[in-house]
Amino acid sequence: MSQIQTPQAIRGTQDIFGADAEAFAFVVETFERVRKLYRFRRAEMPVFEKTAVFSRSLGETTDVVSKEMYSFEDRGGESLTLRPEFTAGLARAYLTNGWQQYAPVKVVTHGPLFRYERPQKGRYRQFHQLDAEVIGAAEPQADVELLVMADQLLKELGIADGVTLQLNTLGDAESREAWRTALIGYFRAVKGELSEDSQERLEKNPLRILDSKDPRDKVFVADAPKIDAFLGAEAQDFFGKVTAGLDAAGVTWTRAPALVRGLDYYRHTAFEFVTDRLGAQGTVLGGGRYDGLIETLGGPHTPAVGWAAGVERLAMLVGDLPHSWPEICIVAESREREIDALALTAEYRRAGFIAELFASGSPRKRFDKAQKSQPQVIISLDQRDGHKGNAFKCDRALYERFADAQSIFHGFVDR
Ligand code: ATP
Ligand code: MG
Repeated sequence: MSQIQTPQAIRGTQDIFGADAEAFAFVVETFERVRKLYRFRRAEMPVFEKTAVFSRSLGETTDVVSKEMYSFEDRGGESLTLRPEFTAGLARAYLTNGWQQYAPVKVVTHGPLFRYERPQKGRYRQFHQLDAEVIGAAEPQADVELLVMADQLLKELGIADGVTLQLNTLGDAESREAWRTALIGYFRAVKGELSEDSQERLEKNPLRILDSKDPRDKVFVADAPKIDAFLGAEAQDFFGKVTAGLDAAGVTWTRAPALVRGLDYYRHTAFEFVTDRLGAQGTVLGGGRYDGLIETLGGPHTPAVGWAAGVERLAMLVGDLPHSWPEICIVAESREREIDALALTAEYRRAGFIAELFASGSPRKRFDKAQKSQPQVIISLDQRDGHKGNAFKCDRALYERFADAQSIFHGFVDR
């Protein structure tokens, strides 16, 4: 017996396999298909960045920077951070690669992110996001296009029912500042009754209290001052154009006046797609406009808007997908025909058929095994047949596909 202890996976990471992995892949594939319909370009981004990329742009007081980042010194003594989100890295890339020349840049990416959080259902320390951004666009049309794309993604995933788009505006810098002052006044009066986190946030980042999940804060959030009382004419006009665009494109939304986003950089549009089907982790997609972000990284004023969606949460909503049965099973019913069966299988797969080979184990059991995997066609090779294959259960759709590729079929029986 071995005395070696198997190392365990890191807490908050997942090994995704089986039905969960199929749902995960379906989410990513659907995202890839939909982003092409909207002519968003792909980017592949580094998994780590200099820590300053995140600490400057997200803001030191945000949860992500103050307690969730995986930061470490590399062997050269430089402070690096595993990306906790995509936006900051994309903004950095926009500046360091001169992507200004393509502005507005419509870009998507996806992959793993890392946050030191308390793991639970729908919340992990390594998780995955789909991310879409329009960098260098000041017009509300960019917000609308991103939201319509998000809506279409959820519909094509088949999970739009029961997911609602909650929409808010945070106003421009001026309206946001006036709102902030009013929120500080309001929450100061009840400071002692707020959660410890919110007491700490009160002076520095009072908007974040609105985003709190703590029931002690929630009682006061309901009656907190609303942004609407502080919106200037320009900010109102911007929001009006976003909602008119959504209505024109047939996207349903609801106004959520207390919705703020966790990060400091948001202006104007803020939104979340929320469901009650995932318990406490009900936000599947969130984003907004971040006109101030690129400046925090030392770039010129660059309006931008984007969103990110949690792949694991979307995949949980997708649930089990229909099993993918093979179209064709090729069975070698004798050892002599194994190599022929292998060659034939390769040929069918090259021609675009989903094919499975049964040429191992006891030759007498192979046909039964093939039948159990419920293919539309079984082609059986045995000694007596010589070169002939037999086909069973060939349905009409497949039969028509066979007609296109008849040259590769050495004759089959239609039952
Ligand atoms: P939450 O309020 O749930 O913590 P957030 O505001 O921190 O979310 P964002 O930074 O906006 O989330 O990320 C966008 C999306 O990524 C979320 O809506 C969610 O679907 C997903 N997400 C965020 N953090 C995690 C995590 N730790 N595990 C799994 N998915 C996550
Ligand atoms: Mg969070």
